[in-house]
Order: sequence, then structure tokens, then C-alpha cells
Amino acid sequence: MDVGLLYIGAPPGTRALEETKMKAILVREFGAPEVMKLEEVPTPKPGAGQVLVHIRAAGVNPFDTYMRSGSYAVKPALPYTPGGDGAGVVESVGQGVTKVKAGDRVYLAHPLTGTYAEFTLALESQVNPLPERVSFPEGAGVYVAYGTAYHGLVHHGKAHASESVLVHGASGGVGIAAVQIARAMGLTVIGTAGTEKGLELVKREGAQYAFNHRTAGYQDAIREATGGRGVDIILEMLANVNLAADCKLVARGGRVVVIGSRGDATITPRDLMGRNASIHAFTMWNISEADEADVHAGIAAGLANGTMRPVVGKEMPLADAVRAHKEVMEPGAFGKIVLIP
Ligand code: NAP
Repeated sequence: MDVGLLYIGAPPGTRALEETKMKAILVREFGAPEVMKLEEVPTPKPGAGQVLVHIRAAGVNPFDTYMRSGSYAVKPALPYTPGGDGAGVVESVGQGVTKVKAGDRVYLAHPLTGTYAEFTLALESQVNPLPERVSFPEGAGVYVAYGTAYHGLVHHGKAHASESVLVHGASGGVGIAAVQIARAMGLTVIGTAGTEKGLELVKREGAQYAFNHRTAGYQDAIREATGGRGVDIILEMLANVNLAADCKLVARGGRVVVIGSRGDATITPRDLMGRNASIHAFTMWNISEADEADVHAGIAAGLANGTMRPVVGKEMPLADAVRAHKEVMEPGAFGKIVLIP
């Protein structure tokens, strides 16, 4: 995995402009949120095939915190600027770039340099058009949330309109995206959240059923909602807590798709065997080019027709990145947290 690309210094084929500076969050050592500092660094210049984006909003994701702590499989070279999600306006393009031009509104997908900055450098393939109807803070919540939800539901879950889906952890970024996409595809959507506010959001965004994952016996209520047959697809945001129960809740021929996990899980394989059910798992860092292209096609359609409506729970100034990293890991999720440079 080429994690050197996340380095803010001077990625291959680029030259830092000494005379132009920008503000960016820098991580010089792995550790607690406080290792993130707002600094002045040279503004990068796009090389051939690259695009410089003026960031208007940066999305905060749980993986940003795992990466910053140094505990994640993807470990960037230090120092680096966090952020794989962002939206803004193309500032300039390098030689050979035809997909976008200066002035275009775009959302970013895991760009070369981090989005917690005033400017971010991306490959042409890592920028995609952001329709006028989507604000920059909303655009900062597009790629990771909707890309992950779409890939999980469509490519791994193999969703069909006649099926039911449990979005296990529906109040956060990925969960809300999954609820909107699944409902638009015609599935019966069951979502969970841990607060009343979260449950209301999950219902507002399209779930026919919403249950509190902190209430004892809620899995029985989910089974009842499916008429006792179980759920066809489970999109799981916290597998270390829920995977064993998911294997008992999934329907015959069903698919459990592990999206998030923060520890180990023990399951009873016979639960799956008796149901001809399967467990899938993925990370977006490993997505194939074909699936990535399909994800962006799905996002383009969903943003254009309004079925994908990113929910921004909190906007904070870039200087508050430390607070953002603490809050994204706290219970009581409500859509996305975004940083405004
Ligand atoms: P988020 O916005 O922080 O949301 C976290 C969600 O998990 C909330 O809905 C939260 O609900 C829910 N949750 C908390 N306790 C739960 C429980 N016991 N059972 C079920 N759900 C529970 O995070 P996100 O961006 O949606 O991401 C969700 C997870 O997927 C994270 O672990 C993230 O690292 C992972 N992820 C993986 C990929 C990948 O490539 N595989 C991509 C993106 C994200 P309440 O706060 O309402 O309790």
C-alpha cells in the first residue's frame, strides 16, 4: 500500500512554491489528537496529471483518527496532513489534465495530500464534479460515506429491491448514506442509532424502522419487523460488538457486510451454515478500479437526482481539528463533522 502519497511535503512530480504559503494541519508524530497542529507550509503546485484544489470544507472520518494515532494499517510517512474527504474549487491543473479546469466545483476522493488544509493536491482521477445543488460542507461528506455505503450495499451486499437491509449504526456518515441509497433502491430499510435524535434522523432519511442499539432486546424487535425471517443484508459499523448477533439475525441466503470494527469478534459458524449466509468485509483502500469507477458513477447520479443528500451535523474551523477528532469518536453520531479552512 503506497502511503507515501499522503505526505504533504513534495509528492513525486511536484515542486513546492516557496513564495506561496498555506495553512494546513500537520501531524509530526503519531499520538493523541493534540499531535495535530495548525502550521504554515508551502502551497503545492500541480505536476503533470495533477490538480490543485482550494479546499472549502474537509470531511472528518473515524479512519483519520486511527491513522493519526499510528494504529491503522495505513501509516503515512511523517509529517503528513490528515484528510481523505473534501470539497472545493479547482485552483489550477497540471499538464495533460482534461477532466476538470480552474474554477470547477469538485469533491475529492483520497487525494495525494490531506484535505485538512487550504489547498490539496490530487490526481485527476481523485477529483469529481460537485453539482451546484450540493454545498461544499455537504460535498466534504460525499466520498468516504457514500462510496463506502454504495460499495458495501451494491458490490458486496448485492442488494435487490425486494430485500431488507439492516444498517447497523445508521446515524453516522456511512449509515445515513446507506439508508438513503437503500431506500432509493427500493429495499426495506431498518436502521439503528444510540440516541433519540439519531433515531429521528435515521427515520427522516428514509428508514421504515429505527431501533436503539443501546436498548436490551432490540435485535428481537428487528427480527419481528422482518416477520421472523431475518434480514437479507446487514451493513455492520461495529463488528466487534455485533457480528455474533448479526449471524443469528441474518436471513437464509443473507449477507453480513463488515464495514467497521474496533476489535475482535467471536462467532458461531453454524449460525451461518444453517442459513447459507456469508460474511463479507472490505476497506475502501483496497477497492478495484472497476468498482471505484462504478462508485463514482453511482455518486454522480445520486447527487444529481437528490437521492444522496449528505447530512452535516457539525461545522468547525480548521483550527479545531483536535476537537473534531475527539467528537467523531464519541457516541451520539449525527451525520458528518466537517472542518472549514
Ligand atoms: P460515525 O459517523 O462516527 O458513525 C458511527 C456509527 O456507529 C453511528 O451510527 C453510531 O451510532 C454507531 N454505533 C455506535 N455504537 C454502536 C453499536 N453498538 N452498534 C451499532 N452501531 C453503533 O462513523 P462512520 O463514518 O459512519 O463509519 C462507521 C464505521 O465504519 C467506523 O468504524 C469507520 O471507521 C468504518 N468505516 C470503514 C470504511 C471501510 O472502508 N471499510 C469506510 C468508512 C468507514 P450512535 O452514535 O447513534 O450510537
